[in-house]
Amino acid sequence: MKTFADPGQARHSPQFFLIRGEVRPNYEVPARAAALEGALHRMGLPPEAAPAATRAQLETLHRADYLDFLRDAMAEWSALPTKGPEAVPNMHATADALANGARCPGSIVGKVAWYTADNACPIGPGTWEAAIGAAGVALAAAGEAAAGRTAYALCRPPGHHAYAARAGGHCYVNNAALAAEALRRAGAGRVAVLDIDSHHGNGTQGLFWDRGDVLTVSVHADPNRYYPFFTGHAEERGAGSGAGCNLNLPLAFGTADDGWLDAVARGAEAARRFGAEALVVSLGFDASRDEPLNALSVTEDGFARAGALLGGLRLPSAIVQEGGYAVDVIGTLLERFLKGWGDA
Ligand SMILES: [Zn+2]
Repeated sequence: MKTFADPGQARHSPQFFLIRGEVRPNYEVPARAAALEGALHRMGLPPEAAPAATRAQLETLHRADYLDFLRDAMAEWSALPTKGPEAVPNMHATADALANGARCPGSIVGKVAWYTADNACPIGPGTWEAAIGAAGVALAAAGEAAAGRTAYALCRPPGHHAYAARAGGHCYVNNAALAAEALRRAGAGRVAVLDIDSHHGNGTQGLFWDRGDVLTVSVHADPNRYYPFFTGHAEERGAGSGAGCNLNLPLAFGTADDGWLDAVARGAEAARRFGAEALVVSLGFDASRDEPLNALSVTEDGFARAGALLGGLRLPSAIVQEGGYAVDVIGTLLERFLKGWGDA
């Protein structure tokens, strides 16, 4: 199995994070990728570098005005007379405003508000370069899958909360969705995205909501109590030609291996029934019982069994890294997942 990573990922080092009214250091740190890369070296799978995603590749799913914003945000923010070290929003475009003719403003302060879903996606020096680097890593893995093989993409920052024109939840560019789209364009008739990060893959759902050629499945903790709160419910099934092509499997807080693996197996079965010719796995490790946010309670064995279950589908696959913030354990979880996959 080939693996890919962006040697420049550490250029993106977000600081700001607000949780339950407390400002805390951001969890999405460069050390996460270092821990995962260490695991790849231990497994004898050292990652290859990949070219950054091109503008044309990014525009297969992301809006041009949003990409311009991400590219230019730090320079515009830096020109403000007084500012913090990163671009962080202090308001958002609400549904009420959008229903009444709201439009994107010219000021960078207003644009940061417009193009973000929350304040967990600070834009600092290096954010744009790391985001398109991570997308390139996912596209390299998709290239392997397009050739009938399976590859792992060590993406940082993660991507599954990013919509066509909105960042959120540590995510800026949707790496997994771009991989799925690339597989479609490379000739796979139907592609499934199976997201096992503990948070709902809301951006991925949004990007493929009305498409019947890409099945999106997300296994995650109950959004009534957990980010992204508004979406991730079982009733969200897609629309138009995508009706029935989105499957959310929310789980009660504290769900452990057996309950989580049952849901992963339901997702795998949905991909099989859909007739997927290729698979994208959004692989988060934040379902781990060792996770700082600790909503689910999956063990190392659970991740090994998930790897075996998904590898058992025997589909060409791009395994794309999403979240997982317990820096001391995520390397081991990656080893167990990939070993499980290889043993399937
Ligand atoms: Zn997550």
